Amino acid sequence: MSCIKPARRWQPRFYPFRRESFRKRFREKIEIMLKGPLWGCRMCGNCLLQETAFICCMECPKGLRNGPCGGVTPDGHCYVDPTRRCVWHAIYNRARKTGRTDTLIEVLPPLDWSRTGGETWADVISQIGKVGSGKFFGSLFSRDREYRKQVWDSVFMTIRQPAWWNGDREYHPAAYTEPASELERSLREGRFVVATEITPPLSSDTEKLRKAIEEVRPYVQAINFTDASSAIPRMSALACCKVATDLNAEPVFQITARDSTRLSLQGDAIGAGQFGIRNILCITGDSPLVGNPPISDMNIYDLDAVQMLWILRRMRDEGIYLDGRKMKHPPRYFLGAATTPGALDPELQAIRDQKKVNAGAQFFQTNIIFDAEKLDPWLEQLDKRNVLGKVSILAGLAPLKSYKTALYLHEKVPGVYLPDKILSRMEKAGDGAREEGIAIALELIASLKRKKGISGIHLMTLGGEDIIGRIVREAGLDR
Ligand code: SF4
Ligand code: SF4
Repeated sequence: MSCIKPARRWQPRFYPFRRESFRKRFREKIEIMLKGPLWGCRMCGNCLLQETAFICCMECPKGLRNGPCGGVTPDGHCYVDPTRRCVWHAIYNRARKTGRTDTLIEVLPPLDWSRTGGETWADVISQIGKVGSGKFFGSLFSRDREYRKQVWDSVFMTIRQPAWWNGDREYHPAAYTEPASELERSLREGRFVVATEITPPLSSDTEKLRKAIEEVRPYVQAINFTDASSAIPRMSALACCKVATDLNAEPVFQITARDSTRLSLQGDAIGAGQFGIRNILCITGDSPLVGNPPISDMNIYDLDAVQMLWILRRMRDEGIYLDGRKMKHPPRYFLGAATTPGALDPELQAIRDQKKVNAGAQFFQTNIIFDAEKLDPWLEQLDKRNVLGKVSILAGLAPLKSYKTALYLHEKVPGVYLPDKILSRMEKAGDGAREEGIAIALELIASLKRKKGISGIHLMTLGGEDIIGRIVREAGLDR
């Protein structure tokens, strides 16, 4: 329990993997005795408190270290456990109040698991010694904000940014010229792109999958294959992408942080290239808790989406693995990320998205949108941050099938909200709900096409691939 941040739950602390000396264990005891009550410290051994507005990010059930997932509820609670506040919502708001939002842009590393359970103060004390304790403590009272920041960074930057990570607050444009994929080519040519999503089959039979791919292929530039969405196991996204390339369709390989480790991510990204898969979408993934029981590992994830992008971008553009080994033949891919424009208020959401773009996102696929006008403040904030020209945004759309589906999306799917006017149109439509859903989708497309910063749409048909052709034709988006 913490006395600084109320309503915090107790979560178990990490313990060192190896046996340690008495002196080290003593220092750890002191650290947990102080930081436990103050911040609910779990002894992750890789402290980020200075960068997270002095709120411990390890409170997040997913252990995200670079910002919130899209599941934060409108009143700032966590969708995994709605009885507690989203810790990242709290961090962003405190950082804004204290004028420290610039710190939220820095791409922070995943845990070095060999340090978990260990104390972090020894490093800080030794670094203060190197910088000079007089200088460090003197700077705390300086009125010069820049000087304070500079001295502070000289102590903490080396600790939080180990050489194997080297995270920063800068934008890193892709270091290649020819488009890595056909999707990237279309976007570069300025076409209003249509992508869609096919949910992988529940068995090893690919007949239905092939039919669905062939049905949508003439109308879309790319097809996403989800990675155990809603935490329900299905055929792997990688296998589905291979089926798609065999059928001359362009796949988007979705990888979730939930089911990846830093090892599997790097291997899968290289392996995907061997099958001609050139688009990779990095997402955090739904909590295992939204899946079916028995619930799988609820512990924190090894990586978050920002870290996935950072690792994959460096593999491609700098030719290095996370551990620093050089690659003879770096992989080629076009990197994407997901975003939920309405999850936070637009100013804070834009910070989150800028960080993804800096880390390596070249295209965004948004969560399902039902109110195109609501995108405007978010797009304005992205523009203000000079992000719009650096990323292609595909707005997520789902043609509604029935009032029941509309209610389900509104009430059960994290990050999706339907305005009352849409819910009421669907309710009144009765037997004509399917047609009404298509009409709503077409109105949204017309409005999205006029928006600066929107490069296309991502159609999520919820299993109804047969309507893609009709929507694309009626929206005037035929290839
Ligand atoms: S970031 Fe890690 S070390 Fe720092 S307070 Fe949180 S759990 Fe403790
Ligand atoms: S809503 Fe997402 S980011 Fe926020 S605490 Fe919950 S899991 Fe973490």
